[in-house]
Amino acid sequence: MGKRVFVLAETKDGKLRHVSYEALTVARQVAQGGEVNCVLFGPSSVDFTDEISKYGANKLYIVNDNRVDIYTTDAYVQTVSQLVNEIEPDVILMGHTAIGKDLAPRLAARLKFGLISDCTEVVPDGDNIVFSRPIYAGKAFQKRRFRKGLVFATLRPNNFEALEKPTKTEVVLFEPTIKDLRTIVKEIVKKTAGGGDLSEAKIIVSGGRGVKSTEGFKPLQELADVLGGAVAASRGACDAEFCDYSLQIGQTGKVVTPDLYIACGISGAIQHLAGMSNSKVIVAINKDPEAPIFEIADYGIVGDLFEVVPLLTKDFKKTLT
Ligand code: FAD
Repeated sequence: MGKRVFVLAETKDGKLRHVSYEALTVARQVAQGGEVNCVLFGPSSVDFTDEISKYGANKLYIVNDNRVDIYTTDAYVQTVSQLVNEIEPDVILMGHTAIGKDLAPRLAARLKFGLISDCTEVVPDGDNIVFSRPIYAGKAFQKRRFRKGLVFATLRPNNFEALEKPTKTEVVLFEPTIKDLRTIVKEIVKKTAGGGDLSEAKIIVSGGRGVKSTEGFKPLQELADVLGGAVAASRGACDAEFCDYSLQIGQTGKVVTPDLYIACGISGAIQHLAGMSNSKVIVAINKDPEAPIFEIADYGIVGDLFEVVPLLTKDFKKTLT
């Protein structure tokens, strides 16, 4: 029998986040002919109706309340709980984004159901669904399923194909009952450091302590610009104040799965690998041939990054323009 799936979609900087397309695609697969419902927050939600239709949502709920225009845990938990009670889904999916990581456990606790977080694979298995998620800092994968009741999971961005399947989408304006808000966001001041969204970047050029200074990140930024990618860093580089902690990849930083991760002057400590070892292709540039990063790299370049990186930039410039 088809399932009723509920997807929490997200927008960022005036665009639907890529993980929302991924979640809608997974939703269609697990719905197995059932119904895909989706919710969007914020004043410009209606502008995304066509995009949501392209990815096969049967119903789009738009939350009609300016108290959810900016994310707060309180307002979202109340709103999404009410939507869950209205839709009565069999499956809830959302991105393992900053919002997903904050909201999903709260929602699970509030509605008293389980949660499987940070999934990298979702496979329908008869009437059930099998979720894979990395454990032990990415060294192993765990397969989990719910024995009964509502299925609730967050999906790691960049791990699922986003496939279009246009359908007719009914748009429903949803008026939540929001009360007793403990947090009100008055203004968001953006940090100037850091470029795009690392969790959804397809190409990342990352620098470690071997980059030696803030200035040393310039050639990395140039390579990232030519490749259309983003710059990230190891904790070594952040601790040395070469760059902002918002760029840190690893166990205590961001977890990324780009198509290409270029590690420059990064030794490959286990805590760093925890954040990037699931990248599709890893290139390591290090002057120490014994550096542990080479053990997980698909391609290794033993050499001085200040010579190798500009050469790569020059070459890619020639081939890509
Ligand atoms: P180093 O280990 O100092 O390596 C620098 C590398 O640069 C060396 O391999 C060297 O050969 C190479 N090099 C130097 N000059 C050049 C050059 N000119 N050209 C090419 N190569 C060069 N780390 C993280 O990254 N992320 C985390 O989230 C994280 N969380 C942690 C959590 C805990 C609880 C702990 C204890 C540690 C954590 N760490 C984390 C720190 C981690 O253990 C390492 O200390 C850190 O990753 C090292 O950073 P690095 O590789 O840049 O520096």
